[in-house]
Amino acid sequence: MDELILIKIGELILKGNNRRKFEERLMTNIRHSVSKHGDYKIYRAQGTMYVEPKDENSKIAPAVESIKKVFGITQISPAYVAEKDMNDIYRVIKEKISVPLLNAKTFKVEAKRADKKFPLTSPEICAETGGFILQNFSHLKVDVKNPELTVNVDIRDEYAYVYCEKIKGAGGIPTGSSGKAALLLSGGIDSPVAGWLMAKRGVNLISINFFSYPYTSQRAKEKVIELNRILEEYAGKIPMYIVPFTEIQMEIKDKCPESQLTIIMRRFMNRIAQRIAEQNDASVLVTGESLGQVASQTMQSMVVTSEVATMPILRPLVGLDKQEIINYARKIGTFDTSILPYEDCCTVFVPKSPDIKPKLEKVIESESKLDVEALVNRAVEGTELL
Ligand code: ATP
Ligand code: MG
Repeated sequence: MDELILIKIGELILKGNNRRKFEERLMTNIRHSVSKHGDYKIYRAQGTMYVEPKDENSKIAPAVESIKKVFGITQISPAYVAEKDMNDIYRVIKEKISVPLLNAKTFKVEAKRADKKFPLTSPEICAETGGFILQNFSHLKVDVKNPELTVNVDIRDEYAYVYCEKIKGAGGIPTGSSGKAALLLSGGIDSPVAGWLMAKRGVNLISINFFSYPYTSQRAKEKVIELNRILEEYAGKIPMYIVPFTEIQMEIKDKCPESQLTIIMRRFMNRIAQRIAEQNDASVLVTGESLGQVASQTMQSMVVTSEVATMPILRPLVGLDKQEIINYARKIGTFDTSILPYEDCCTVFVPKSPDIKPKLEKVIESESKLDVEALVNRAVEGTELL
């Protein structure tokens, strides 16, 4: 194969055996992410991972697009393969990168020599290659400080590689290295971003959506399924659970004070989410809450909603402003789906003036009018795995 993808791996801070496990996980995640585009051989050597098409139909460009979403990678370079011989490197430069060279006005060459037996040193490779390019592309000038095009020549164990692009990877650590969490995924802007941030730090996800048919429509459900699918491009498979929530919401509306509707509803969500998390060996809950964003996300409200869960509730957006969250949502590609105007189960039962400083005893007193255990049990039993 005369073309492949070079991948620089990121923050694999762990050493020894752990590092090996991280790398193996990353390879598995890369394999999974490119599999839909064709057949690729994936291997690693000297701290770099290689993705090599096995046949003509397996293209480089779509594989690069998918690899950009895999966590644990700092840099991606589509590269051309040459024999470890200057003449063959020149041949590849002429055959493969003459278009970018013709389009540029200034360039420089950067060389790396992992194989110290190669007869030229890195500065010599730069000088020779630069000379060759100047001879063949007479419009070009060398600019070592701020070139339009950088031609990289890497001499490694088996081959030499020539490439011009250094594409930024997604950063983070390989998904699957940091345990499992249950994401409370609504159709809003925030929770998909919260899930993405957790996956970026290596967490495997399951997602849980509370669905209030017929107050929330089939289209609202499809919207959440689509958000889950977009997250899967980054986080691998995310099993999604749909919890029937209508009965609980009706009961709360019937029997509890209006100012506490949202708080009590959020407490039910956390109780049910914890049960589903336990059944799936997930050890924490994750929500898209951000401090002070709405009445149910004030400090006091979070204290009251957290009280029902023994599991930690992680809130990766807690310190972000709405605009910062929106920027993330645009970057990861969930924003346009999140703003589709289908009602969420929460928007159907919004109190006119919610309590922003709920008192735990008062809330517990209100809940005593409900058969909490039975309601939770029925919701968990009615939960559907998509
Ligand atoms: P989002 O944009 O994520 O919907 P929000 O600003 O609308 O958040 P709330 O509606 O108060 O805030 O919800 C806070 C968090 O509770 C959400 O980020 C999400 O994690 C969870 N949540 C709310 N509604 C649902 C739902 N219908 N299904 C699952 N989780 C939900
Ligand atoms: Mg919401």
